Amino acid sequence: MGAGVTSLVRTFGDARHRYHGSIGLVPTMGFLHEGHLSLIERARRECDTVVVTVFVNPLQFDRDDDLAAYPRDLERDVGLAGPAGADLVVAPSAEEMYPIAPLTRVTVDRITEPMEGRHRPGHFAGVTTVVAKLFAGLRPDRAYFGRKDAQQLVAVTRMAADLSFPLEVVGCSVVREEDGLALSSRNVRIPPGVRTAATGLSRGLAEAAGAVEAGERSAAVLRRLVAGAAGGLDLDYVELAAAEDAAPLDTLDRPAFLAVAATAGPVRLIDNVWFGLSDGVPVADVGTRLPAPSILYRR
Ligand code: AMP
Repeated sequence: MGAGVTSLVRTFGDARHRYHGSIGLVPTMGFLHEGHLSLIERARRECDTVVVTVFVNPLQFDRDDDLAAYPRDLERDVGLAGPAGADLVVAPSAEEMYPIAPLTRVTVDRITEPMEGRHRPGHFAGVTTVVAKLFAGLRPDRAYFGRKDAQQLVAVTRMAADLSFPLEVVGCSVVREEDGLALSSRNVRIPPGVRTAATGLSRGLAEAAGAVEAGERSAAVLRRLVAGAAGGLDLDYVELAAAEDAAPLDTLDRPAFLAVAATAGPVRLIDNVWFGLSDGVPVADVGTRLPAPSILYRR
């Protein structure tokens, strides 16, 4: 648990004035759920001061309707982040974050080109630019990111190394709802009629993980398993990608993630299963499931 009192601050300088010891940063866009809380809890275990940022970053949205509909409730977020272990919630306004329209962008080549990069033009430049600002302004020792956004995790890890940010990027497992759907703040906008179809993504990924355990290594076979389970959704892509640089793979012969993106009604969903290697054998991390309905739906 945290020190007990969570402070809400608006600027990087105010946050830094409250620091002691090592600093763990958990960047979010708010409307927190158990996936975010798992990052905060991990940061609490590993750092002296835990900083959670809540900022719905306009630069990373490729659709105005998605930005407008993104759920926001800062009071709720502060109330959830504190008990999970946050000392500070930093919620800058767009004016504080971008006092003048930025002329500088941080872009990561190659890693950001396939998958999400192809389907969401400009998205990753928005992410890596804001994350670089958070790193520069808040100067954490460790920064915690979810494997839920696997390609983002790979891009941010590389950005931090390329720009010599003196910090460690820590990747954390996916947290899932009771029915397997990967937690996302956007899940509150999934219409009931497509909810069952949406669970096809995690079911397909779990089947693929099972196939890998049974010896399957062909990307084509794994992709077909996921695509087959995602019937009823509008599929953007299924791809096996290298963990190091997100390059598409034909064979699972190195650390990798099997990623899928699809649209369920008005909501775009992404999910993946991560494969590490232990003695040359792939080991799947499908994440964990909540035992009860998510706090996303609590009234
Ligand atoms: P977001 O608020 O969606 O930008 O997410 C903030 C951070 O939480 C990112 O590092 C995400 O990868 C991570 N995150 C989001 N959903 C999950 C989840 N279901 N499990 C684990 N981490 C997550």
